[in-house]
Amino acid sequence: FFQQIPQAAPDAIFHLTAQYQADTDPRKVNVGVGAYRDDNLKPYILPVVKKADSILFHNQNLDHEYQPIAGQKTYTKASSKLILGEDSPAFQQNRVVAIQTISGTGANHTAAAFLAKFHKKGAICLLSKPTWANHKAIFNNVGIQVAEYPYWNPSTRGLDLEGMLAALEDAPEESIVLLHACAHNPTGVDPTREQWQRIADVVQKKKHFPFFDCAYQGFASGNLDQDAWAVRYFVERGFELFVCQSFAKNFGLYGERAGNLTVVTRTAEQAQHVLSQLEILQRSEISNPPAYGSRIVDLVLNDKQLYAEWNDNLGTMSGRIIEMRKRLFEKLQQLQTPGTWNHIVDQIGMFSFTGLSPAQVKVLKEQYHIYMTDNGRISMAGLSSKNVDYFAESIDKVVRS
Ligand code: PMP
Repeated sequence: FFQQIPQAAPDAIFHLTAQYQADTDPRKVNVGVGAYRDDNLKPYILPVVKKADSILFHNQNLDHEYQPIAGQKTYTKASSKLILGEDSPAFQQNRVVAIQTISGTGANHTAAAFLAKFHKKGAICLLSKPTWANHKAIFNNVGIQVAEYPYWNPSTRGLDLEGMLAALEDAPEESIVLLHACAHNPTGVDPTREQWQRIADVVQKKKHFPFFDCAYQGFASGNLDQDAWAVRYFVERGFELFVCQSFAKNFGLYGERAGNLTVVTRTAEQAQHVLSQLEILQRSEISNPPAYGSRIVDLVLNDKQLYAEWNDNLGTMSGRIIEMRKRLFEKLQQLQTPGTWNHIVDQIGMFSFTGLSPAQVKVLKEQYHIYMTDNGRISMAGLSSKNVDYFAESIDKVVRS
């Protein structure tokens, strides 16, 4: 029956990377993929992860047995504490459960599959416009339809709060609302605390279900607590919710697929019911989560000294990204590039939404060997002290032409 299978389009980001790799021009710049690079544009193994690697390597008690279906408790609990905060009232009331997932993507998938099975039939999931491209695919895959709420305002190059609130208000009651916990991908624009309060008001009024996706905790501001503020605020207000956690970026464990799905319920009994159902789901999908990456995270999160070192490493990564934002902004100012560019320094996290048009993105690729996604998003991690000037000069020329 294979003759009926149509050819699918290649994944846009991975296709872009392949094009970049095939380019032989020495000036080429890859600001497409969202993986951290050091100032030599090389992958970065966090020093604390190297240390944990070595501890694991020398641990005679480790074996390759299956992990528990939900992952090791020490790992899932520490992960949930990381996002909710040690003294979250939800812990004191035993209203938190968690399950280890295949990185952030798996957390999104497992959460979506759970909602498809148990949430109100026909409920839609509201996604920000724009959002991480995989969100729509993940929800559609489990049979949940998605709709969009306005998020990016091209004229202010900031948040369209009023548009967002109106769309949440107009949506059917008990919709699922997907929110980026921090460092919104792809825009780099996060609501302020006052704006989060207004978002929470509408979500509460309309009985929507808050679904947080948190792929960049500690990576955005360099401060783990600050980046968790929105989630903790929703918990404080008494919402039941999901938080999808990824350790790909903040631990540099991309390929190890270490993730976690944290669930906050209203009662301790509900929490246990939810966990039991998540375990049933997990069993049919992956049986048991992968061990290696989670062991590294487990070690670091549960050891005071390693945890402190991890914080330093996070500072190194977020610091370099903030520095690149500054350098790019200053160079564009120096060149007096037409337009306003403050958003480059105002935005947060790995990505910046430049506001460049698809036509300009195309010229940058074809004439300047600069590779970015069609929506004009750039990964700041693709810039370095060596290429940032060339990058700014190229943007300057394209904007003027
Ligand atoms: N959500 C968002 C918003 C992301 O940007 C990413 C990473 N690109 C993820 C989830 C999940 O990534 P991973 O599966 O590699 O943890």
